[in-house]
Amino acid sequence: MPQPATRLASVPPYLFAEIDRKKREVIARGVDVISLGIGDPDQPTPRFVIDAMHRAIENPANHQYPDYEGSLAFRQAACQFYARRFGPRFDPATEALALIGSKEGLAHIIWAYVDPGDVVLVPDPGYPVYRTHTRLAGGTPHLLPLRAENGFLPDLDAVPEEVARKAKLLFLNYPNNPTGAVATADFYQKAVNFARKYDILIVSDNAYSEMTYDGYVAPSIFAAEGAREVAVEFWSLSKPFNMTGWRIGFVVGNAAAISALGVIKTNTDSGQFTAVQEAAIAALTSPEAEAFIAEMNETYRRRRDMAVAGLRAIGLDASPMKGSFYLWVPVPAGHTSASFATLLLEQAGVVVTPGSAYGEHGEGYIRISLCVPEERLQEALERMRRFVAV
Ligand SMILES: *Cc1c(COP(=O)(O)O)cnc(C)c1O
Repeated sequence: MPQPATRLASVPPYLFAEIDRKKREVIARGVDVISLGIGDPDQPTPRFVIDAMHRAIENPANHQYPDYEGSLAFRQAACQFYARRFGPRFDPATEALALIGSKEGLAHIIWAYVDPGDVVLVPDPGYPVYRTHTRLAGGTPHLLPLRAENGFLPDLDAVPEEVARKAKLLFLNYPNNPTGAVATADFYQKAVNFARKYDILIVSDNAYSEMTYDGYVAPSIFAAEGAREVAVEFWSLSKPFNMTGWRIGFVVGNAAAISALGVIKTNTDSGQFTAVQEAAIAALTSPEAEAFIAEMNETYRRRRDMAVAGLRAIGLDASPMKGSFYLWVPVPAGHTSASFATLLLEQAGVVVTPGSAYGEHGEGYIRISLCVPEERLQEALERMRRFVAV
């Protein structure tokens, strides 16, 4: 066998390997392990989407190759949804592209823009795709620390002038995975001004725009003046419609950036199954969608409040997030992210994600995902209370 390409060596070691090994050990001992580790909704896809899929799959026209850029009907539904939800209008023909899940598009836009030696501004902690594909493409991730004292927003003024000049892309993700932080309209305006000054494309990952609480409504990067000149925004059906397995999302924004991403995609994939796109159209246009999302959020909010109360009861400094379905919790004194995650697994049979898995500035935190039913969450909290001395 030949050696794999040297670029594979640039992929950081799999940080969950040790936790995964321990998890298998604990399961082998017969422990009923509860996972608060994964960001994957536990509830089913809504009926109105499944019904649309049933109809779509019966249509033989859908059995052939899809349009690589997404069906015009899907792109129209995406743009109409965006206009209704966020305000700005995009041209479905030139300013929108269907994606095989937004992860696919987030990875490929890096290949459309990053040459070896280029700099990409990457939040840390952050979704690993941004930095991994930057490295695979031969680029250099410049890490933007997300710190509690700045509300987990990057300090763009702290980016050195020469780094900003070399940067091609700036990744932003609010509501944020893993911190649960949200962005203000002011911050987005600042980011757009920064991108215009240094000729940078902002890649806004708005996967959690609909998962918000306490009356908070998440904005789009396009709320900022001038954003259309320098930004694209990725949106996913995965989280709001419990559709992680369906692999469908889209990107809207600057036509030149959409076109560049399209070049990579035409030459890589052949688009998403048209029947899946039709099901996604039902999700984006159904009059039932709003009520469905509101009910989901009420479920997450109840879980959030239950978890915050339970974690505080054992002395952890948990605060309720306004967006996403993650709690970002500082570990107790004397622990690292990994040692505390290991303690929770071994003593309580509860899996959480060590913050360090999302980057060096995630050290000192664990991420708790609320994608389990209330009974399981309650059981996890109860076990922590009984077995974990903080
Ligand atoms: C879940 C998630 C996505 C969405 O991924 P899909 O590929 O659309 O399922 C994108 N970005 C972040 C930060 C996420 O957590």
